[in-house]
Amino acid sequence: MPSIREAVQAQTPLVQNLLDGVARIGADPPGITRDAFGQGENGAMALIAEAGRALGMSAATDAGANLTLRWAAARAEAPPILIGSHVDSVVQGGNFDGAAGVIAGIGAVAAVQAAGIAPRRDIEVLALRCEEAVWFGLGLIGSRSMLARLPDGALDLPHARTRRTLAQSIDHCGGDSARLRAKTPLRDPREMGAYLEIHIEQAPQLIEAGAPLAVCLANPGNVRHPFIRITGEDAHTGLPHRFRHDAALAGADLSLALERLWLDEEAAGHPMAVTIGRFHTPADRHSLTAVSGQFELSLDLRAYDAAHLQRLEGELQRLVAEVAARRKVRIELGERSAAAPGPMDPRLIRELSAAAERCGIVAPRLNSPGSHDANNFAASGVPTAMLLVRNQNGSHNPYEAMDTPDLMAAIAVAAEWIASA
Ligand SMILES: [Zn+2]
Repeated sequence: MPSIREAVQAQTPLVQNLLDGVARIGADPPGITRDAFGQGENGAMALIAEAGRALGMSAATDAGANLTLRWAAARAEAPPILIGSHVDSVVQGGNFDGAAGVIAGIGAVAAVQAAGIAPRRDIEVLALRCEEAVWFGLGLIGSRSMLARLPDGALDLPHARTRRTLAQSIDHCGGDSARLRAKTPLRDPREMGAYLEIHIEQAPQLIEAGAPLAVCLANPGNVRHPFIRITGEDAHTGLPHRFRHDAALAGADLSLALERLWLDEEAAGHPMAVTIGRFHTPADRHSLTAVSGQFELSLDLRAYDAAHLQRLEGELQRLVAEVAARRKVRIELGERSAAAPGPMDPRLIRELSAAAERCGIVAPRLNSPGSHDANNFAASGVPTAMLLVRNQNGSHNPYEAMDTPDLMAAIAVAAEWIASA
């Protein structure tokens, strides 16, 4: 029998074929588009299912139309290990965001089998539906469906391309949307032994560190204000400064104050991020010769623990009041949405770090820049872990670049961990 490392190495052609296969399915030059609940996602799921069946795994579709491939233990002594991610992409995205994690699950099962190891639990590979928010304006849909975490009204949202509602899309792909309306988990999270997600890193921290992968510490939660409005007074460009109620400069002040808060927090050892995605005067009335009385911006505030996020919201209120007073404007934060941070399980972090060490793989511990399906499993009480894989050029663009040997390193850690779990 080969060692686990040798067995993993021998799966490189299988993994490469699957990576190339999902790239062909999503080909949309110069990028990749695998549309959720459409040809792209369905085609990728069919390819993954075929690879699972070839390994003797049984395939099932749940009421959320997620794909589960199960390698049943001869005698299961503990609850199953789930290895999952998504196979949809954004429009003109890259090949690896999501799909690499599902393929890694298949690669790990193939390697453990080839090494002649019989795990004492069922090992499942999940391909979760529609993780990307571009299709319905709501992300993480597969894991939300599975764990009864869909927000009210989600099933009635229209698909960006087909205009079918989410309920119709799920039914169209073999799910059962009526079951989802019962708002109970499709599977009891207490009967899930662990959820592992392998995902490309969406920042260049691993490139910077020169390491192939990281054991994730936490996924960020966020507070979002999509439509912040600042109201001052329109005025002539000759108006002296002391008379102005300049909404545009108030927007600039607030944004820079938030950036200063971010850098101070990070310097104090509290990681977070501030993103002002939308930032503008009203296009139908702004001009070279007017002080703008109106300004709009959006805000995404993210952090890695709930108490920190709550404290940051207090800081936001304080900065809003301060800027509004100084600039003599009104600032309305407007609509608010929030998502809870996803801390990873400390025991799994230790186990995966130990598995990496046994494989001789350098795996620093890092926070994930993005939120993932793992957040929903963690929030539902499932012991959850993530491995982040080195990736160039970010993600959600055609130039995302992961090297297969780095993914094979993550597969080695996963296989080593499964063998001992
Ligand atoms: Zn992803």
